[in-house]
Amino acid sequence: MDIKTMVHSYRDELVERLGKLVSINSVKGTTTEDAPFGEGPKQALLTALQMLESDGFHTVDLDHYAGYAEMGEGEQLIGIIGHLDVVPAVAEDGWNTDPFTMVQKGETLYGRGVSDDKGAVVAAMIAMKVLRDMNIPMHKRVRLIMGTNEESGSRCLRYYVEKEGHVDFGFTPDGNFPGVYGEKGMVSARYYSKNTNILDIRGGTAGNIVCSKCTVKLKGVCYSTKKLTDFFNNNSIDFEVENNDDIVTITVNGKAAHASTPDLGVNAISYLLVGLKEAGLQDPFVDFYCSHIGLHTDGEGLGCKLKDEYGALTLNCGIIQMNDGVIEGTIDIRFPVTMTSKQVIRGMQDHLEDEGGYVDIKFGGEPLFYSPDSVLVSNLLAAYQSVTGDMETQPMTIGGGTYAKGIHNTIAFGCAFPNRDYHIHDANEFVDIDELLLQAEIYAQAIINLLNA
Ligand SMILES: [Zn+2]
Repeated sequence: MDIKTMVHSYRDELVERLGKLVSINSVKGTTTEDAPFGEGPKQALLTALQMLESDGFHTVDLDHYAGYAEMGEGEQLIGIIGHLDVVPAVAEDGWNTDPFTMVQKGETLYGRGVSDDKGAVVAAMIAMKVLRDMNIPMHKRVRLIMGTNEESGSRCLRYYVEKEGHVDFGFTPDGNFPGVYGEKGMVSARYYSKNTNILDIRGGTAGNIVCSKCTVKLKGVCYSTKKLTDFFNNNSIDFEVENNDDIVTITVNGKAAHASTPDLGVNAISYLLVGLKEAGLQDPFVDFYCSHIGLHTDGEGLGCKLKDEYGALTLNCGIIQMNDGVIEGTIDIRFPVTMTSKQVIRGMQDHLEDEGGYVDIKFGGEPLFYSPDSVLVSNLLAAYQSVTGDMETQPMTIGGGTYAKGIHNTIAFGCAFPNRDYHIHDANEFVDIDELLLQAEIYAQAIINLLNA
């Protein structure tokens, strides 16, 4: 039998296993002595390991941080690295069904994690079973590694690498087909006001999301209301102004987007502050913000407008707030895959401060980059192409970060097919059963390619 027929023979089991894993709410919980990320992630790991154990694979539980199932023999190790934890899901977000009860409608499955990343893990389980059933000769070991803390810092993977080391070839089915050979580096920073007349300002929910709503309180109307209205209208910005006892409250509604694609959003903080400056407001902090950040999402004001052949630097201001008279906010910078954090920070050195405020750089993380011609990337691409017949879509670089940054010789490969939006991290996350089966086929072929690489 061929891989496809073998994979399809496990269709019912795939759906049943995924349903079982989705029913375990594995959102990060309270740490206890033997549950490093709470009871949910631990139970999801134990359940997945039981499944693989019952399949006859050798399984190991690394203190409930991560676990793995292994087959094959040899020095070299091929790793498939997925995660069993999920981001929170509540009915109020707009779910049509209970997020922790997998529901099948036609050939589509709904539930938190059906795509990211429990679906991919179950597809990888089926790929392992199929290769074993087919008695594929294995002179390398193949490991399905499952972490339980990917969504909140990937401490699971650090623990795994500490105990077990790196892999010789790996892929994490937690990104896109036909493979992600570059992930941008990150610089995160905070800015602070030194001098401002603003009474209060607040906006944003997370540093890695474009701020979608920002409210400022000012003492009196100290700007041109006509100019402010014109600025907002010219830029199609939704806003509200309230006057109360000499206090003006202005709210701007923008549009959220992921920090790696800030141009897809409308930053409420930036439009609000730039609008006030255009309207003639005199304020040192507003001047600082407008000259250092403003409406740019490419780092121009901070001296780090950089790009390489694979993409440009992006900058996002996610949160702003005022505490004890000081305004502070977050800056999320994602820089090109062939550059270093040093290069980015060097460019910023002369742009970090003026009378109105200053920027404090918190952290720099290096990018991930493998040549598209490397053995790893080309073999994974070949697996995708031979199974799907899609010769058009090329491997890509992304602004986000995956497990691939935490373990050597690994890239993200799957689980999202081109031009598909599975509502991951959102309400009504879904996946088609046929897509999971196709994933399993591709993973099986990918392992065969890597065994022969
Ligand atoms: Zn994920």
